[in-house]
Amino acid sequence: MVRRIIPVHDLRDAVTLPPSGGARVPASGLLQDRLGRPLRDLRISVTDRCNFRCSYCMPKEVFGKDHAYLPQADLLSFEEITRLASLFVAHGVRKIRLTGGEPLLRKNIERLVERLAALRTVDGEPLDLTLTTNGSLLARKARALKDAGLRRVTVSLDGLDDTVFRSMNDVDFPVASVLEGIAAAKDAGLGPIKVNMVVKRGVNEHEIVPMARHFRGTGIVLRFIEYMDVGASNGWRMDEVLPSAEVVQRIAAQYPLAPLSPCAPGETAERWAYEDGAGEIGVISSVTHAFCRDCNRARLSTEGKVYLCLFASRGHDLRALLRGGAPDEDIASAIGQVWQGREDRYSELRASQPADTPGAPRVEMSYIGG
Ligand code: SAM
Ligand code: SF4
Ligand code: SF4
Repeated sequence: MVRRIIPVHDLRDAVTLPPSGGARVPASGLLQDRLGRPLRDLRISVTDRCNFRCSYCMPKEVFGKDHAYLPQADLLSFEEITRLASLFVAHGVRKIRLTGGEPLLRKNIERLVERLAALRTVDGEPLDLTLTTNGSLLARKARALKDAGLRRVTVSLDGLDDTVFRSMNDVDFPVASVLEGIAAAKDAGLGPIKVNMVVKRGVNEHEIVPMARHFRGTGIVLRFIEYMDVGASNGWRMDEVLPSAEVVQRIAAQYPLAPLSPCAPGETAERWAYEDGAGEIGVISSVTHAFCRDCNRARLSTEGKVYLCLFASRGHDLRALLRGGAPDEDIASAIGQVWQGREDRYSELRASQPADTPGAPRVEMSYIGG
């Protein structure tokens, strides 16, 4: 395999303090950004570390042995995460996804799950609390996560062929162990389980149909993600993107599919049902079919910066407010002001630009989570 050496911009310090002047924005659950989008979904990165080196996310050339991860003291504590999460929830968040890096590497993660599971939405409902994992530690942790109040999990798996998968995770990790993790999650009741497969043309495209065949009829929802130009280290090229429309065509040629309507507004996946009743698949067309119009997601980094777009170059430092002793009302107002000022729609704009238009450097996916 030809390896490209890619310089990485460390944007972890590219940060602003949220605005402190202007009208205060108390948490009312009715927050909207400049394009009228509500805040509903919060993704919390609990670690910037990972035991995999997926070439599209943390390539070894960049995330090598001497890569400087965040020091422990910089990470938000579980108390700090829960406090911020409760303020986001007061602004209207209904769904929280724990991510990373690999979230199951964060010590005692189930203690954080317990705290978050106790939060209630503005309507008094429990949160839709979920977690995205590479599955490597799931067999060990599934039961404890369920007992702590986690509702469901999404597991990333890029193929069933062991050679292909070991090469994509680049740490020689076997498929069988991820499948064990998925089975343990199912046994523990962490469903409906979703499995995410990032498709790279020429790398794992031949795994699309075998993956569909494997998960059909199991109740597990397989979702195909277009390889994205997120971050600055994966050497992304448009010719390595296999459009979702082609994924759907390839599966439908063997197993006829019919379109389904979205479950919820702002849902990233387009859903398709097997016509023979064997369940459904999803496709996430982040490159070929931008869904910014409905984007209702904010991302909280491991060290407490809020990012409003997966392709952002800088975050807003909420940890500085937390550790500076700001009261809840001030932090809630800062979150409100940041969201009200938001007009991100990177993917829509990318679609209207020539492929090689240079943009601002972007923060890494492994740092803010997916
Ligand atoms: N380590 C966990 C995992 O892999 O599930 C959670 C973090 S990972 C950054 C979250 C999701 O982002 C995974 O499903 C992964 O496949 C996806 N992802 C990472 N880099 C990507 C890229 N360049 N394009 C599309 N999806 C990507
Ligand atoms: Fe790790 Fe997930 Fe990124 Fe793969 S996609 S390197 S498992 S954080
Ligand atoms: Fe949301 Fe940014 Fe993705 Fe558009 S590009 S859907 S604004 S995260």
